[in-house]
Amino acid sequence: MKLSAPARRGGLIASKGLSPTTAPGYKNPNGQTVIRDTGAASTTRDRQTIYQLRCGRCSFDYGCNGMDIKARLCPNCQSGAPGEPLREPAPMLNFG
Ligand SMILES: [Zn+2]
Repeated sequence: MKLSAPARRGGLIASKGLSPTTAPGYKNPNGQTVIRDTGAASTTRDRQTIYQLRCGRCSFDYGCNGMDIKARLCPNCQSGAPGEPLREPAPMLNFG
């Protein structure tokens, strides 16, 4: 799996311009943890990036734009909004 994110050297990016809620390892009050910045554009909010989140309860991985991380609920076990696509355009979901 190769991401086309621009190589950024220097590692620590916690200082400026980035909200702590988008930092990998951040866990919101609902138990949703930020895994990584996917670099993909959000499908629901302009100028937002999709982050990969993982549920602490059921380990479900899904995409979430940066603005919604802090209040995100798991789409799988907390009745949250459907996750944003993580790697490719979402196939038709099976709402069953
Ligand atoms: Zn869950």
